Amino acid sequence: KKLPLDPSEEPGVRLVKGACFSRVKPQPLTKPRFVAVSDEALALLGLRGQEVLDDPLGAEYLSGSRIMPGSEAAAHCYCGHQFGQFAGQLGDGAACYLGEVKVPAGQSPELLQENPSGRWEIQVKGAGLTPYSRQADGRKVLRSSIREFLCSEAMFFLGVPTTRAGSVVTSDSKVIRDIYYSGNPRHERCSVVLRIAPTFISRFGSFEIFKQADEFTGRQGPSYGRDEIRGQMMDYVIEMFYPEIQQNYPDRVERNVAFFKEVVLRTARLVAQWQCVGFCHGVLNTDNMSILGLTLDYGPYGFMDRFDPDFICNASDNSGRYSYQAQPAVCRWNLVKLAEALAPELPPARAETVMDEYLDLYNNFFVGNMRKKLGLLKKEEPEDEMLITELLQTMHNTGADFTNTFRSLSQIPCPTEEESEGEEGIIKQATELLLEQCASLEELKAANKPTMDPRELAMLLSMAQSSPSLFNMISDRRTIARQLEKLSKLKDLMETNAEELRAKQSEEWTHWITRYRKRLAQEMEGQSDAQAVQEERVRVMDSTNPRVVLRNYIAQNAIDAAESGDFSEVQRVLKVLEKPFCSQPGLELPAWVGCGGAQEQEERD
Ligand code: AMP
Ligand code: MG
Ligand code: MG
Repeated sequence: KKLPLDPSEEPGVRLVKGACFSRVKPQPLTKPRFVAVSDEALALLGLRGQEVLDDPLGAEYLSGSRIMPGSEAAAHCYCGHQFGQFAGQLGDGAACYLGEVKVPAGQSPELLQENPSGRWEIQVKGAGLTPYSRQADGRKVLRSSIREFLCSEAMFFLGVPTTRAGSVVTSDSKVIRDIYYSGNPRHERCSVVLRIAPTFISRFGSFEIFKQADEFTGRQGPSYGRDEIRGQMMDYVIEMFYPEIQQNYPDRVERNVAFFKEVVLRTARLVAQWQCVGFCHGVLNTDNMSILGLTLDYGPYGFMDRFDPDFICNASDNSGRYSYQAQPAVCRWNLVKLAEALAPELPPARAETVMDEYLDLYNNFFVGNMRKKLGLLKKEEPEDEMLITELLQTMHNTGADFTNTFRSLSQIPCPTEEESEGEEGIIKQATELLLEQCASLEELKAANKPTMDPRELAMLLSMAQSSPSLFNMISDRRTIARQLEKLSKLKDLMETNAEELRAKQSEEWTHWITRYRKRLAQEMEGQSDAQAVQEERVRVMDSTNPRVVLRNYIAQNAIDAAESGDFSEVQRVLKVLEKPFCSQPGLELPAWVGCGGAQEQEERD
């Protein structure tokens, strides 16, 4: 379906009125060349990685430097709420639609189910100025491109719905970037990621533009046909990507409610999956939320190392709006914004009823997923939720590594009749195993060092009491609460020594493992073949709890190598992440260098 073109077709960065797309020309790179390709993602398009690499024009085409025959490049106009505030027109400022590729014959039915449209949209990210680039240049540099490339693919192989990345290309074109707050600008190589998804037009923000159109983009209401265009966009998205809903609901309102219900369900499922792999998106603005329930836009994301519910991976997120534990509620908030944008096509009262189910949906997905991670495969018990909560609490208290702790749980056996060691011995062994994942005293002290100056904190606290309204204007309650919590933890840590800490960690884990073993005993009730139960349990756990995730230092290591001209590490890391649940001989990741390495700094222009 052709959407109306921008009526003022002149090029240049601007406010675009009355259109969902602008035609653009990707800006060619100087000497584009491949850093890495994803064979699996390129196969979606019917391409072979090696052939693409060998093709002298491969990097030109996949970076948008040369336009493929039949491709009509465009940038999509959307808007959104950033950090809780309506931000007006945003749009594809650095990304560029190249077109859609028909799904080649013989692609697995599973993939078709995920993408019933029968085609893949391809995009280049970092291809230069569009009308939506605002003050920026539409370029991306090597570090952000490698991060997006690796994480898109890593998430896919972890089984988390995501947009994909086919390749990353770098070049001799340069832009100046100042690494956030460093005050140290440097020239960096323009790089481009080829992104692949059923579609990229379906952000929550793609629909918000219609609601806010009058105030913020100067569109003159119905004369620009915005109600009609919203209807067309909804028809397009539902027909293409939710064909079953289109078929099953002849009534338009009922169709729209069913559609919204499905988006709510997919979002709840997605965020539950993030929580279960310790992934923090970092910028959950409504324009980075997908109506298809995909992880979208890899910026300052982070996988957690030591478990901390307050983990924040975005250096500019001062209040922790997008912290790990805030994600489920923030996604709910975003869904409410989507519902507002779909009105009146989606009657607000109906949307509200659908939203009432969100929390239960999320909880069911989360607990269901966590039960698998704990190897609880039989009947769900009411205490399971508490067991999960206490595990996370114990991890937090002891500074345990999220990924490694879950991975070690499968080594704690189910109780059986003919156990050689007594219960005590088994619990002791398991405790030793988990203690290996815990933080040292020095690490815990470092992690609990308040980031706020104590005098500033004291000033804010007294202001919170004497003048709450002023306090609310300049600060955030959660930030202060977190700082205070850290301060009190730090105080306790100062009064302890390494041995005492170890003893306390050991006690906490022993307590949890004892409960866990009791719960596991219930799993065995009425099971005649204990060995079979145990084997199945280990199989499920080891295919649910990854051995490896894309920790910050792993990405950084690959980036450092690539910046000095060695691209092999990117390709090697991709190979490891393609099989996150197994160990691959000869393919180990760089050794652990402590928590996170340097914090990721989102690319700023
Ligand atoms: P994000 O925070 O990545 O979701 O981006 C917010 C907005 O900034 C979107 O409209 C992006 O298209 C735009 N944007 C991000 N990076 C660039 C860039 N390098 N050049 C132009 N626009 C950009
Ligand atoms: Mg974005
Ligand atoms: Mg981004």
